[in-house]
Amino acid sequence: MNDRYDFIVIGQGLAGTLIGYRLEKAGKSVCYVDAPEQTSASSVAAGIINPITGRRFVKSWRIDELLPEAEKLYTELEEKLGGQFRYELPLVRTLFNRGDQNDWDIRSCDEEYAPYLNSQPELSTLPAITKPAFAYAGVNRSSRIDLARLTEAYGTATLSAKRLLSEKVDYQKLIVNDKGISYGPIKAKAVIFCEGWRARHNPWFSYLPHRGAKGEVLHVRIDAPTPELMFKHRVFLVPRANGTHWIGATTENDFTDDIPTRANHDYLKSRLDEVLIAPYEIADHRAAVRPTVKDRRPLLGVHPDHENLFIFNGLGTKGASLAPLCSRWLADFILNAKSLPDEVNITRFPKK
Ligand SMILES: Cc1cc2nc3c(=O)[nH]c(=O)nc-3n(C[C@H](O)[C@H](O)[C@H](O)COP(=O)(O)OP(=O)(O)OC[C@H]3O[C@@H](n4cnc5c(N)ncnc54)[C@H](O)[C@@H]3O)c2cc1C
Repeated sequence: MNDRYDFIVIGQGLAGTLIGYRLEKAGKSVCYVDAPEQTSASSVAAGIINPITGRRFVKSWRIDELLPEAEKLYTELEEKLGGQFRYELPLVRTLFNRGDQNDWDIRSCDEEYAPYLNSQPELSTLPAITKPAFAYAGVNRSSRIDLARLTEAYGTATLSAKRLLSEKVDYQKLIVNDKGISYGPIKAKAVIFCEGWRARHNPWFSYLPHRGAKGEVLHVRIDAPTPELMFKHRVFLVPRANGTHWIGATTENDFTDDIPTRANHDYLKSRLDEVLIAPYEIADHRAAVRPTVKDRRPLLGVHPDHENLFIFNGLGTKGASLAPLCSRWLADFILNAKSLPDEVNITRFPKK
C-alpha cells in the first residue's frame, strides 16, 4: 500500500464508494478504510428506487433530478467494474379501497405526476401467486440497484489495487492538523467520513443529529413462476439476481444493536403470508441500520473547524436514488468550491 494520498475515505458502503469514485475520476488518489466485520446498510438494502411513495402517492424529493444522475452513474460503474447493478423493474402496488383509487386517479390527472403513474400495469403471473387485491397501480421509472454487489465489486477492485485497508478505524489514531491527516503510516490531504449510522461515534461529527433506523429483511425462495416486477402490498417483494426474493422491511427507531431478531422474522413472515399464496421457503434473514437524520435530508459538507474533514452521510431510506447526485454535489464542493444546496449542507445544524 502507498502511504500518500489526496483523500482517505472512511467507510466503503454506498456513500464511500460513490464519493471515492468521483474523486478518483477527477484524478485524485484515494485510499479507503472499511471494517468488514460490521454489517453495512448497503449490503442489506433492496436498493429500490421508487419515484412515488407513501399512502398519498407523493413524488420523492428532487426525483426529477435524481433519476437521470442515478441512471448515468450506475451505468458508468457497471462498465467500469464489469457487472450488472442496475435493474429496470416496474413497481406494482395495491390500492386497498375506493379512497386509494380516488387519490391515485387525482394524481394521474396531474401533469407533473403523469410520467410516473401507470393505471394499467402489466401483472404477468402476479395474480397467480398472490391473494386478490382491490386494484393494482403501477409506478414508472422505478428500478432496483444491487447495492450489495456494487459495493462488494468496488471493494474487491480497490483491495486488489492495494488501496483498501480492512479494519475498523480507531479515531484516536487519526491525527488531524492544518498540514494534513495521518492515520498510522498513511498520510493524506483530507478525510471524507462515510460511516453510515455509526457516524454517531465520530468525535468530529457526532454533534450532527444522526438517528438510525434498524431494518430487517427476509430472502425467500418462491416455488412458482414469479413476475419480473417489484410488488408492494404490506411488504415489498423484490426479485434478486440469484432467483430469491427480498421481503421487507421492518423499521425500528429505538434499537440497541443491528442483529436480526426472532420477533421480526415472525412479523415479516406473517406479513408475507397475508400476501403470498405460492409455497416458499426462507433462505436468509438479515438486519442493518439505515443512516437517518432528524430532518430526513442527507448530511454533506465540511467540518466548521477543520477544512480537511468532510462528511457524506444521512442517506436514510433512499440511498440508491440520493447518493449519485449527492456525491456529485460533494465532489464539486470539495474540488471546485461549488456551494452545496442548503437542504443538504451540514451548516443547517450549527455546532454549539
Ligand atoms: C433493511 C434496509 C432496507 C433498505 N432498503 C432500501 C431501498 O430499498 N432503497 C434505498 O434507496 N435504500 C434502502 N436502504 C437504505 C440504504 O441502504 C442506505 O441509504 C445506504 O446504503 C447508506 O449507505 P452508507 O454508505 O451511508 O452506509 P453503509 O452502507 O452502512 O456503509 C457504511 C460503512 O462504513 C463502515 N464503517 C463505519 N464505521 C467505521 C469505522 N470506524 N471504521 C471503518 N469503517 C467503518 C461500515 O462498516 C460500512 O461498511 C435500506 C436500508 C436497510 C437497512
